[in-house]
Amino acid sequence: MKAWRLKQFNQPLEYEDIEKPAVADPTDVIIKIGGAGVCRTDLHLIEGIWDRALETPLPFTIGHENAGWVDEIGSGVTEFKIGDPVIVHPVASCGKCLSCRAGEDMHCENLVFPGLSADGGYAEYLKTSERALIKLENGVEPKDVAPLADAGITAYRAVQKAAPFARPGTVTILTGMGGLGHIAVQLMKEFGNGEVIALDTNSERLDMAIEYGADEKILADGNHLQRINEITNGKGPDVIIDFVGEDDTHKESMEMLKKGGHYFVVGYGGVLHVPSLDIINNEFNVIGSLVGNYNQLYELMRLHAKGKVHLHSTTYPMSEANEVLQMLEEGKINGRTVLVP
Ligand SMILES: [Zn+2]
Ligand SMILES: [Zn+2]
Repeated sequence: MKAWRLKQFNQPLEYEDIEKPAVADPTDVIIKIGGAGVCRTDLHLIEGIWDRALETPLPFTIGHENAGWVDEIGSGVTEFKIGDPVIVHPVASCGKCLSCRAGEDMHCENLVFPGLSADGGYAEYLKTSERALIKLENGVEPKDVAPLADAGITAYRAVQKAAPFARPGTVTILTGMGGLGHIAVQLMKEFGNGEVIALDTNSERLDMAIEYGADEKILADGNHLQRINEITNGKGPDVIIDFVGEDDTHKESMEMLKKGGHYFVVGYGGVLHVPSLDIINNEFNVIGSLVGNYNQLYELMRLHAKGKVHLHSTTYPMSEANEVLQMLEEGKINGRTVLVP
C-alpha cells in the first residue's frame, strides 16, 4: 500500500509502497482509511519536538486523525464486522491499567498512539484496536468526520473542563480560530453561559467564528490586549483557552487573565514563563488538556449527529500530503483539511 513516511526530521514526507498492516493480536482491527485529518501536531512531529515525549519511531507513517471502514478483524473482536464505517479514537489503549479503568485512555500506561508512536493514517490502511472504534451513524461518510477524532475531541475536552467556569457574566477568550477553535466556539455556546470572544490574527477565521456563534471577535493586531481590557472593564477574561500555545499567546494570556482566572493550554510549541509571585498573587489556574477520552469522542459524535457541531473542512487527495502540510505551515488553511486515499 501507499503511505507517507517520515524518515528524517525537518524533511518532507516520502510517499512509498510499504506492506499493509496485519492483524497480530486478537483485538487488532485493520481500518481502510476513508479520511485522514491534517493536524499541526504533524508539523511538530516533522520538526522532531515530539521525540522528547514519545520517542518518534523513524521511519514511520504519520496521521492520527482517522476514519474509515473495518477491513480485517482479530479473532477476539466482537463488536465490529468487516465493512462497518468507523471513527478511530487516536490511541489504542490497553483497557487493563488503572488509567484505562478510570476512563482516561490518553493516560494509558501501555499506550500505542498510531501517527505518533506507531504507523498512522496517512496511508491506505491503519492498524488499531477494537477499543478505539466508534461506529458512524447511517449516511455519515468517514472523510466528513475524520477531524472530529482529534481536532474535535481535543476541543471537546478543553471546553468540558472550562465550561463550569464560564458562568453568566463571565468572559471567555478562545485564542486561535483554526481547526480546533471553530469547533470550540460551538461547544462553548452549548456548554458555557458566559460571553465568548474569538481572538485570531486572521479576519476570515474571525468571521467564521461569529457564524459559529461567538459573541464577539477581536483581531490580534497589536491593540488587542487594550480592547480586551476595555471589554472586561479592566479586569481581564475569566477563562482563556489557548489553541495556539506559542510564546506570544502564553505571555499575553498571563498578562490579561483575571485574578482567580483559568488558563487552559491546548496548543503547544512555546514555553510558558510566569513569575511564581504572579501565580500566587493572582491565584492563576494554569491547566493542560490533552486530546480526550473515548467517552468524550462518543459524546461529540452524538452532538454532531444532532447537528449541534459543524465541521469546516476541505478534502485533498492523499497524494498531496506535503502540499497540504506546507499550506498549514503558512497559515493558509481555514478549518481543517482531510486527506482522502
Ligand atoms: Zn492532532
Ligand atoms: Zn491502559
